Amino acid sequence: MRDIFLYNTLSGKREKLETLEPGHVKMYACGVTVYDDCHIGHAMQAIYFDVIRNYLEFASYKVTYVRNYTDVDDKIINRSKERGMTPIELVDQIIRSSENDMESIGVRAASFEPRVSQSIPEIIAMVAELIKNGFAYATAEGDVYYRVRKKADYGKLSNRKLDELRGGTRDVVQGDKEDDMDFALWKRDDTEGASWESPWGRGRPGWHIECSAMSKKYLGSSFDIHGGGRDLVFPHHENEIAQSEAANCCPYARYWLHSGLLTIDKRKMSKSLGNHTLIRDFVQRFPGEVLRMAYLQSHYSSNVDFTEAVFRGAARRLLYLYESLQELDRLALEAPASEKFLPGHNPPDLIEAFHQQMSQDFSTVGALREILLSVRKANELKQGKKSPSKAFTAKAYAESLRAVSHVLGLLQMEPQAFIERLRLQILKEMDIPQARVEDLIEQRRAARAAKDYAKGDELRKELTDLGIELMDTPEGTRWTIQWKDEEG
Ligand SMILES: [Zn+2]
Repeated sequence: MRDIFLYNTLSGKREKLETLEPGHVKMYACGVTVYDDCHIGHAMQAIYFDVIRNYLEFASYKVTYVRNYTDVDDKIINRSKERGMTPIELVDQIIRSSENDMESIGVRAASFEPRVSQSIPEIIAMVAELIKNGFAYATAEGDVYYRVRKKADYGKLSNRKLDELRGGTRDVVQGDKEDDMDFALWKRDDTEGASWESPWGRGRPGWHIECSAMSKKYLGSSFDIHGGGRDLVFPHHENEIAQSEAANCCPYARYWLHSGLLTIDKRKMSKSLGNHTLIRDFVQRFPGEVLRMAYLQSHYSSNVDFTEAVFRGAARRLLYLYESLQELDRLALEAPASEKFLPGHNPPDLIEAFHQQMSQDFSTVGALREILLSVRKANELKQGKKSPSKAFTAKAYAESLRAVSHVLGLLQMEPQAFIERLRLQILKEMDIPQARVEDLIEQRRAARAAKDYAKGDELRKELTDLGIELMDTPEGTRWTIQWKDEEG
């Protein structure tokens, strides 16, 4: 196992990962509230934590990964009424579609994907424990609140002090709370299909308690990594810590990892702004790997701003990698089982370079840079004549490239299938029929066969003007697309 260093929001420092159980990482990430289909913003956290999990496994750790579904929420209740469905029917439908969305962008299912509605006994048990040890109180109205003041280190994750938090509302206590800072663990409610009997009457859990209860059920009272979007640090994660540590009398998660936030053309993504893209619609246009590439070009903790140029850039970068991989596969045909690498080449170096980047707070930016460097070096093999050593070297490059890309969830398709699909889409967006390109290439082949090189050059120029670049190889002419950004 490799030493891994990660930035811990709780300490504000980069720390070495020390797991509670040797070799086994227990990790929890807050999942989505299932009232609507997943958009590309939901994909952000899902992709980053998928890669973190993959890398931990690549570094020889066993990983137990829990990602929950929040399936009890006001938004779900309202949406199910609008659609004339029960909350459970709506939730089942959205979870199924979310599973398809995640699969389409290469995000693996977590080890456990618990739902709030199926974790009610654990939630009630934790609320009861908190009441028992004085950290919570039930009110006459049938609500239960967490007594924030009682937790001396409340605010340690988000670096807030209680008095600052209370601010101007010091003397105004709303509803049946003892203190305005107190938050709900259990809310009185009798909505059909979204409420349960409890020692405090019929109701449903507050949002924060669900993650405390579900993480404990699958990972124990203390575990290694807790993740989520940065917008969850306060109050959600702060409250999870407060509840879990008070109920379990031990530290909660050791390392807190937070992913950045997404904007589209520097604006928050929202339906009303019309810049809202569902995952389902994105993958109609591009293979899901393009979205992964678009995210992985940034560090997981950075904020990301998506523009059309980012997607095109990511698509082009992937096209380059796939075309290079396809070329390596061709060169590797008939590679001997064992041979020396060509002088000046050592393809497995990529694996070590990849580890060096990823073990430092999961630097996908650095990892992609190493991949591109390795591919550039591998592309030198295209020059000169064939040899057993060259075939062996090409094969090793392709293997190393596939091994590390697997961790990122990239280069998982057959190169030909990816290239064709992307090419078709780019031509469509450039408004060029593929038949026209193929026809021009055929005319050029015929002109050259008839030794009419002037005509051949003219046709090549016509293709270049369209953005089509030709490569004449012994096996015939291959082509690729120079996809220019609108902004140049
Ligand atoms: Zn949570």
